[in-house]
Amino acid sequence: MSHNDCIFCKILDGEIPSAKVYEDDHVYAFLDISQVTKGHTLIIPKTHTKNIYETPPEVAKELFARVPKIAGAIKEVYQPIGMNLLNNNEEPADQSVFHLHIHLIPRYGDGDGFSSNWTTHTNDYSSEDLQQIAKDINSTIDS
Ligand code: 5GP
Ligand code: ZN
Repeated sequence: MSHNDCIFCKILDGEIPSAKVYEDDHVYAFLDISQVTKGHTLIIPKTHTKNIYETPPEVAKELFARVPKIAGAIKEVYQPIGMNLLNNNEEPADQSVFHLHIHLIPRYGDGDGFSSNWTTHTNDYSSEDLQQIAKDINSTIDS
């Protein structure tokens, strides 16, 4: 389903040109217009869905199922030494286009242009804290 004023739906409809990397019935993959590193690719579902919260499991399944082969192709062509997958949801988390997408960002070493800066990635939580947090989240997951 195409969505008014969605840039990525316009790309799917061919209204906005893009550099296609891959396409099938479920997904479309194309180069990010602002390449963080060479080969930086976005993969999107053909169904408009705003972000991960609004994504039906079936759409998520088909989307992620294509990621390994696209990542593998980028690896084969440009021989990056690593690859980051990134999915931003909502503006405070840097989502700027509100059509679900996964970034595939090949990594070429220090200073390649990408970094994730986890300044609070410490062990401040006790194991009891961690058990409680896990329980809070688990108890709200529909089974
Ligand atoms: P977000 O910030 O939502 O995670 O990522 C959106 C990405 O879409 C950005 O990295 C941005 O460069 C890319 N983008 C925005 N508009 C266009 C466009 O018209 N064409 C392409 N190929 N990429 C776009
Ligand atoms: Zn859309």
